[in-house]
Amino acid sequence: MTDLYRVLPEEMDKIVIEMGQPRYRADQLLHALYHDSPTDISDLRQIPAALRDALVAARYTIGSASEAHRVASEDMQTTKLLLKYGDGTMIETVLMQYPSKTKIHPRSTVCVSTQVGCAMGCVFCATGQMGFKRNLQAEEIVAQVLHFAHVLRERDEHVTNLVFMGMGEPLANYAETIRAVRLLTHARAFGLGQRSITISTVGIIPLIDRLADEQLQIGLAISLHAPNDELRRRLVPTAGPHSVEELFLASKRYFKKTGRRITFEYALINGVNDSPEVAAELALLLKGNGAHVNLIPVNSTAGGFQRPERRRVHEFQRILRKGGVNCTVRVEKGSEISAACGQLRTDMIEKITSSNAD
Ligand code: SAH
Ligand code: SF4
Repeated sequence: MTDLYRVLPEEMDKIVIEMGQPRYRADQLLHALYHDSPTDISDLRQIPAALRDALVAARYTIGSASEAHRVASEDMQTTKLLLKYGDGTMIETVLMQYPSKTKIHPRSTVCVSTQVGCAMGCVFCATGQMGFKRNLQAEEIVAQVLHFAHVLRERDEHVTNLVFMGMGEPLANYAETIRAVRLLTHARAFGLGQRSITISTVGIIPLIDRLADEQLQIGLAISLHAPNDELRRRLVPTAGPHSVEELFLASKRYFKKTGRRITFEYALINGVNDSPEVAAELALLLKGNGAHVNLIPVNSTAGGFQRPERRRVHEFQRILRKGGVNCTVRVEKGSEISAACGQLRTDMIEKITSSNAD
């Protein structure tokens, strides 16, 4: 069985031609998939019955992600969906909306998951603490975006941006992540601009280099969290082979090849990596390279880590800026519904399963 939502336009051309149909049927098929919300091949009324039958006979299907739960923040700007796939696996995906003064439509960013759990084990991350369960297929990643696209379409809005910052390490699920990016950005499929997409990685160096060679214009964020190896390895236990220095050089290579500047994400943890000395060390590492640092005051998870006081966050930012490094503090979104960074976890799944068992 093959889900039509993992088929790239060039592959779709081949499929319809092999089924004895003209190529434009592939466009009709893709249009129906990405602009309507079919849940079954029989919903594809734009294509002839003969093609629908041939697709069914060749065991093509249409994705089976269903919405198991939806929560919205009080201001309605953050929505978290719990999606359930065909095998019963559940993952979370989040929509963050930012009203704009100049545009009618808000910026609508979907934060997607690429894995169920994560093997990287970052000590402050709820997903890392649950361990690795499985990789998501490209169609399962695409389904997250399409779900929100459907929700937004009903309000006459659309998905404008995409960040790979949900559950999992995107580069550890490389092929499926890239396939999803190609489907979501292809003009004949979902058609989102490549520049509206950011992949966030914990920093797997050979895969950063591979990504730089994909001829994609997507943005890259590297989760750094520390200016030296000793501190970084305490926070990212799997960082071993990827030193801060090597990561920094990889980020420069990515910039050189793609022309896209790198963002370094830095989860600020009270008493761990937030001192003025650490800020100065980070400034020294990054200055003069046009790098951008995004400080994320850590959201508390089971690990017992706390965010620093606001004063200390601003002091850290001030030192970076003074040292010549571009730096912003991430605007908090969704923490009251556990949708903020690192909080995407299975608590909702537990609630649902236990209420089903009642
Ligand atoms: N695995 C990738 C992408 C998913 S995590 C990565 O690590 O980059 C997305 C971002 O959320 C990362 O920058 C990660 O460091 C951050 N994050 C994880 N747990 C967090 C927490 N408890 N508070 C704040 N940010 C967190
Ligand atoms: Fe995995 Fe990213 Fe969480 Fe680290 S921060 S455990 S890499 S999801």
